[in-house]
Amino acid sequence: MKKIGVFTSGGDAPGMNACIRAVVRTARFHEVEVCGILRGYAGMLQGDFIPMDSSSVSNIIQRGGTILKSARCEAFKTKAGRAKAAEELKSEGVEGIVAIGGDGTFTGAKFLAQEHGFSIVGAPGTIDNDLYGTDYTIGYDTAVNTVVEAVDKIRDTADAHDRLFFVEVMGRDAGFIALRSGIGVGAEAILVPETETYIDQLIDKLQRGWERQKSSSIIIVAEGDDAGGAYAVAEKVKAKFDYYDTRVTVLGHLQRGGSPSAADRVLASQMGSEAVKALLAGRKNEMVGIINRKVTFTPFEQAIKHHQKINQELLNLAEVLSL
Ligand code: ADP
Repeated sequence: MKKIGVFTSGGDAPGMNACIRAVVRTARFHEVEVCGILRGYAGMLQGDFIPMDSSSVSNIIQRGGTILKSARCEAFKTKAGRAKAAEELKSEGVEGIVAIGGDGTFTGAKFLAQEHGFSIVGAPGTIDNDLYGTDYTIGYDTAVNTVVEAVDKIRDTADAHDRLFFVEVMGRDAGFIALRSGIGVGAEAILVPETETYIDQLIDKLQRGWERQKSSSIIIVAEGDDAGGAYAVAEKVKAKFDYYDTRVTVLGHLQRGGSPSAADRVLASQMGSEAVKALLAGRKNEMVGIINRKVTFTPFEQAIKHHQKINQELLNLAEVLSL
């Protein structure tokens, strides 16, 4: 393999730059050329390519976002769109590709590989940690740390005023960020899409806290919780229990940004490097992952079809520690 392409796609995540850096440096180590594809599938379709060498990835390991930019591209969902992208890649001489992104990105990669014969290896980059085939995804640890830092600050003001705060964190379909950060901040309750939320039970718990003269309470709500987002849950609680002065904070996009944590930098470096080595070894159409500290490969088909299951032990732990 003489030339590989690399791109980032879908939702951006801190650590994507560290992954790009590892892809470029590992490829150059093996004397393989690297083509940077800008703006995900949107740039691929337009032949928006840049040559990359070791110096193009200097001083980026600590930067959030992605130097290759990310985008969503509807045209790539059509056969004609993918044919155009394949034509651009072929005329550039790209033989193998490292795709950094989530579910959607790997679905597109699977079709591109099937229809046009490219070898593609994926590196899981998403703050949500919901991908099957890896313990952790690139960006998740940073996002959790960002939430913990923000909620610690909210706790200070909540405590000063005896307030009840509902803090909404990202997670439309998955509660990984909510669960891990919720345990990390000692939340009184953690509401996740994977388990049914009973408002009356939540009120009972708050009531018990009130009776114990708890000065503040923090409820972490994943945006996709079945009872609604933080505003909806706060309304439902307030309708029956209004002892505390109640506030809602939606953390929003700040969870995507920031300098990646050490754990994410190392994870991204390993995954980027392993993805290139896998391509050179003839692997294709798989996602690289790390499970129990071992490098693993999961076919795109499986990675897309299954979802990472939420850790029941951590859910139980959160319950015990917040009683
Ligand atoms: P993520 O990779 O973070 O899950 P998206 O779901 O937005 O992000 O997907 C990123 C891009 O992948 C989309 O904008 C589209 O170009 C491509 N993609 C997603 N789903 C498909 C699909 N079913 N077929 C082809 N391409 C897809």
